[in-house]
This record gives sequence, C-alpha cells and structure tokens, in this order.
Amino acid sequence: MERFLGPGGELSKIIENFEHRRGQVTMAQRALKAFNEGGALLVEAGTGIGKTLAYLIPAILSNRKIVISTGTKNLQEQIIGKDIPVVQKLFPGRFKAALMKGRGNYLCKRRFKNFAQQPLFVNTKEGKMFAAIHNWAPKTSTGDRAELSGLPDNYKAWSDINSKSDLCLGSACPTYESCFITKMRSDAATADIVVVNHHLFFADLNLRENSFGEVIPRYDAAVFDEAHIVEETATTYFGVSIS
Ligand code: SF4
Repeated sequence: MERFLGPGGELSKIIENFEHRRGQVTMAQRALKAFNEGGALLVEAGTGIGKTLAYLIPAILSNRKIVISTGTKNLQEQIIGKDIPVVQKLFPGRFKAALMKGRGNYLCKRRFKNFAQQPLFVNTKEGKMFAAIHNWAPKTSTGDRAELSGLPDNYKAWSDINSKSDLCLGSACPTYESCFITKMRSDAATADIVVVNHHLFFADLNLRENSFGEVIPRYDAAVFDEAHIVEETATTYFGVSIS
C-alpha cells in the first residue's frame, strides 16, 4: 500500500501537494485484508485523512465487485466525480464504476413525452422552469435530476415525469431500450465498483429478504461511508414499532 499512498508514492504523482498520512496507509492495509479475507472491519477515521481513497484503492486491488454506500447523494456525486477519476489514473482501464440512485431520481422518457404534450403546473414559476428540463431531456445520458443544478428539491412537476415502479411498463415500454433505469442497471451489472446510498442499499436488502427480487447487482463486499446514518436508515426498512 506504501507504493500508492506512501511518501513519493504513485498518488503523489497524481495529486498536487499530496500529503502522506500514516493513518490512511493503515486503513487501506486493513481494508485490503478485509476484502481479501472476508469479515467485518470498522474504521473511525479523522477528518482529512483521505478515507475514500483508503478504501477505493484496496477495493480495486482486491479484484472483487464492491458496493459503496453513502449517507448522502452529495457524497455519491463526490466519489463518482472526484475520487473515482483519481483512482482511474492510478489503474488506467482496470475497472469500471457506476452510480445508482433510487429510481425516482431519474427521468422516465415515456412519462416525460406524455407530460410535455399537455403540461400542467401548480404555478407559473414551475412552468417557466420546465423549459430547462425540456432542453436537458434530449441531451442527458443519465437522466439523473442532479444534473439540473437549478431545479429545487420541491419541484412538484418532477413527480409527473420521473420513473416510478408502479407506472413503469418494463420491457413493454416503447423506450425500454434507451430507458435511463435500464441503462443504470446494466452499467451497474458490469461495474466493479457500484456507488449507492444507504436508502437504496437497505431498500434492496428488504426486497431480497422478502424474495421480491433485487435492484443492486450481486456484490462481494459492501463499504458504508457516512456510517453514522446507517442505523437510522436500516431502521426505516427493518424496524418494528410497538405502541
Ligand atoms: S421502461 Fe419504465 S422507467 Fe423506463 S421509460 Fe419506460 S416506463 Fe419509463
């Protein structure tokens, strides 16, 4: 691990002002051991230690399919947009990474087409914002609403055009082949690293427990980043309340 994270190591040639941190090397060594030998590893790492790289590098070295689950969508974006590209420079062409979010985050091409023919909005402000979605929809390759940086979280019309399992036509849909959900799942199926969030992870686990299928493809190991939120999220899907 010193070869990558040590003083004068591979990472220092890629990251400007890279600082060697003993804790980062130790965490990466333990993570590699856990990926290779199985079992659980619990790590508490101080801020700024570089923990994302300390699990991403061993994840690639293990040659296993790894799911990384984060507490927030922001961290998902950061891992895919910032950390994975660094690791790709370290291991060019050696692995594929994919991002998975809950299906409600993705545009449904069929519902969007229907809605755009006769759009109805709760107010004129929403109507004006729809122009940006109309412009984005034919260009996006992911359909992920996070690409629409100006779209407020409470934009009501999104629920008229996003993907919903109960309204999805599946393989009978005329746009099934180019559907963003189909693409997200097939990208994840062939990826070595799949970045999800805790909500999707436990929703998927719940489906598996109840034999209703699965959303996340089979994996060899899971990493929970922002693990302090895991208990709360897991309780949402597996908790029992008594009154
Ligand atoms: S397959 Fe489902 S989610 Fe995809 S475009 Fe068709 S209806 Fe929408």
